Amino acid sequence: MEMDILSQKVDAFLKENRNAIIEHIKRLVDVESVSAPNAGPHPFGEGCAKVLDIALGIGHDLGFDTENYEYCCGSIRCGGQDKEIGFFTHLDVVPASGKWEHAPFSAEQADGYLFGRGTLDDKGPAIIALYTMKCLRDLGIMEHHALRLVMGCNEENGMNDLITYKEHISALPEFSIIADGQFPVCYAEKGCLGFTIKHPLSSRCVQDIAGGEVPNVVPAMAKATLKNIPSAQALQALAPFPVTATVTEDGTIEVEATGIASHAAKPEGSRNAISVLLNALGKSGIASEDSSVFLHAAGYLNDYYGESIDVKITDQHTGRLTHVACMCWITENWELALNFNVRYPACITHTQIIESVTALVAQNGFSVDEVVDSAPIYISPTSPIVQAMTEIYNEIAQDEATPYYEGSITYARIIPNSFTYGPHFPAASAKASNQQGKEHMPDECIYIDDVLSAIKIYVFAVQRIDHILPLANQ
Ligand SMILES: [Zn+2]
Repeated sequence: MEMDILSQKVDAFLKENRNAIIEHIKRLVDVESVSAPNAGPHPFGEGCAKVLDIALGIGHDLGFDTENYEYCCGSIRCGGQDKEIGFFTHLDVVPASGKWEHAPFSAEQADGYLFGRGTLDDKGPAIIALYTMKCLRDLGIMEHHALRLVMGCNEENGMNDLITYKEHISALPEFSIIADGQFPVCYAEKGCLGFTIKHPLSSRCVQDIAGGEVPNVVPAMAKATLKNIPSAQALQALAPFPVTATVTEDGTIEVEATGIASHAAKPEGSRNAISVLLNALGKSGIASEDSSVFLHAAGYLNDYYGESIDVKITDQHTGRLTHVACMCWITENWELALNFNVRYPACITHTQIIESVTALVAQNGFSVDEVVDSAPIYISPTSPIVQAMTEIYNEIAQDEATPYYEGSITYARIIPNSFTYGPHFPAASAKASNQQGKEHMPDECIYIDDVLSAIKIYVFAVQRIDHILPLANQ
């Protein structure tokens, strides 16, 4: 089909389907689907099971074959060809922490945007991929490949969903778009390293700490519970610090620190509530002989770029190392525990980072534990398919973007022959450029016209891939 005729047909399709597309994103966003391990038939919780049922139901109603892989993930398939082009997305979301002006789980339309947790990451993209499939089917332009949309329920919290998918299928798609990031093509993802540092506590002043809920979000809230300390003395000691302290009837002191949340891979502009809390507990001296432990822990959060944990490093292809701590608690063995999330470039290994951090924190009596690593991935930004996808994006979006690298991790690292390609647009809209609106942040939102443009880009991209792949295999 001539490109300008295809363009007109896609525009007509989008006009006709616009309301249904918005409605279907809303139906998914309205379900609170934070992935949490669960016994029984719904391994990632009731919310994830419910949203998966709804998404597969939408696929079924649009006339596609659907499959549910033990409620770990599901897929929607279109076309009779054996070989497949895949879309990978996820229906689980991170918790709606921080201050929201819009309802996180009741999608609202305002000023051309759709607000709600998951609009951008990654329920909106799941519907974008689904309507790309519908458009390609309705126009009858796929020749060599069937299409398969996979929707996971555990992307934000371990990526264990696709293990079950791989167990069920005979072959993965020949090529897959991971619809969970920005346009154009992400050619490299940094390594992602998690570890916990621990230090025994000797006093019983700080009874409990609750900072952060998941390992990949810089928390906007952290709390500590203090006991065995006169309340007047505690309130006075904490007064100079940016925390709220309240005394309950039994004399317990609750200390609350607030910050600005962000994705762990993009800490710029965030304020870590854990850091605020640890500084207050350490500098005020209320934790008596443990004050130095809190102070040293806070010291490891003095910057985002590895300097305060002695691993500052940058690489020309994959950028600079970032480090944040997303969770803080007191262990059963009465230790202060701080869980770090490090995104590292390809020029350093996780072993080197762990060695360096272990040596540094040992000087203050901390030990390193619970190391979890996912190595960096890389494909050449000059490969033909990367170039072709980048050109299609630039032509339709009238942009001059180049392939990029990313600190966040996606399914690209567990699905062979894949890369992240949209569907978010790199030019940050006015609403999303502040601290609101991006993925993992309060008031997450997607610009509705961008949803439609993304479908158009995907239609052209998949149609091109359908022809590039047979050529590449000859
Ligand atoms: Zn995502």
